[in-house]
Amino acid sequence: MSANFTLFCSQCHYSFPPGKFVYVCPQCSHKNTTNTPPHGVLKTLYPYEEIKEKYKGAPLFTQLKKNQFLDILPIEKAESMGPLKVGQTPLYTFKTEKENGEIIPFYLKDDSQNPTFSFKDRASQLVSAYAREQDIDTIVAASTGNAGSSLAGICASQKQRAIIIVPKTAPPAKLLQIIMYGATPVLVDGNYDAAFDLSLEATRYFGWFNRNTGYNPFTIEGKKTVAFEIFDQLKGKLPSRIFVSVGDGVIISGIYKGFEDLLQLGVIKKMPVIVAVQSSKSDNLLRNMQNDAFEMRPATTLADSISVDYPRNFFMTRKFLQTYKGEGIIVSDEEIMQAASLLARETGIFAEPASAAAMAGFLKFLHKGNYDENFPALVLSTGSGLKDIQTPLKKINLPQPIKPNIDALKTMVEKAEQ
Ligand SMILES: [Zn+2]
Repeated sequence: MSANFTLFCSQCHYSFPPGKFVYVCPQCSHKNTTNTPPHGVLKTLYPYEEIKEKYKGAPLFTQLKKNQFLDILPIEKAESMGPLKVGQTPLYTFKTEKENGEIIPFYLKDDSQNPTFSFKDRASQLVSAYAREQDIDTIVAASTGNAGSSLAGICASQKQRAIIIVPKTAPPAKLLQIIMYGATPVLVDGNYDAAFDLSLEATRYFGWFNRNTGYNPFTIEGKKTVAFEIFDQLKGKLPSRIFVSVGDGVIISGIYKGFEDLLQLGVIKKMPVIVAVQSSKSDNLLRNMQNDAFEMRPATTLADSISVDYPRNFFMTRKFLQTYKGEGIIVSDEEIMQAASLLARETGIFAEPASAAAMAGFLKFLHKGNYDENFPALVLSTGSGLKDIQTPLKKINLPQPIKPNIDALKTMVEKAEQ
């Protein structure tokens, strides 16, 4: 059983007492200003040596899985996760064609199959479970879309109250899920940062639990479970590369953290190569990899879930990428839309633009000709295309109506075949 987590600040190396929950390192977050990514995001550690000892002599991963990974999660009971099936998403093998005609297989992990159609359910579920174990019945989040709708859905299933603070400019489509799930949307006259700050004040004032991405360390812990599933579904092998879309850097950190836990436990001997993919119109994370002073360029990508000025988990992501020799690829918005279209036509998976960025990164890597691996790469798809229909709608032409008779249809089919 767990609740034996220890929060650790990888910036100042301070460890909190085991089992003590804090959102961010008070020491490091003290220095935060509005024109730099936040310092002091915490990492959750577990007594790895004790866990190894506990399962000594038995296949470790099998034991961890049997115990529903509670040894390396910050909750005590699996029931706290509630009734919805989060994770256990399909991992498909597809094929795509290189420019030279060579057929290349790749894996696609489809996380749009989660209850609210996005990867964010992994984080919402764990945060909700922890709140339940602490007898906190209200969870607040600042969001521009998927995190809010995800929390709303998970809280509905857990009979918890969700307060979602969004900028007033949030498109109505994004509010629809939040309202349908019965959460309370709070529209603020300000941007995402203003919503974020208000959520922190509300957390202090009302004693609500806060799910903000890159603020609550357990969002990373929830997201890491995808690494366990990949390892399990590929029967202990690792993909040659894992392509991940990056905005705030919390999903990629989650994947790194999951594999790092397995590394600490000796389940894997080396880390997979993870490739961070950003849009050229929102590349603040990759562009600042080597910089001492963070230089922000306002994000304008159409892939709105990865449109980020100051990545909330910049410092941890940079450290992961540097420590484990991760890679970075920048793609254009055009390449993202082409990848979304190709993915949908060739595989039947309709991904939102922010999610298709990972596929765009994989295709770019492939066409550069430097793909000679003997084991396929994996592309992570993080959200359904139905989450953001406005962007692709602008790029497609709807056909003109025809008369409902066979001659008109024949003409149309002949024309299409030309
Ligand atoms: Zn610190």
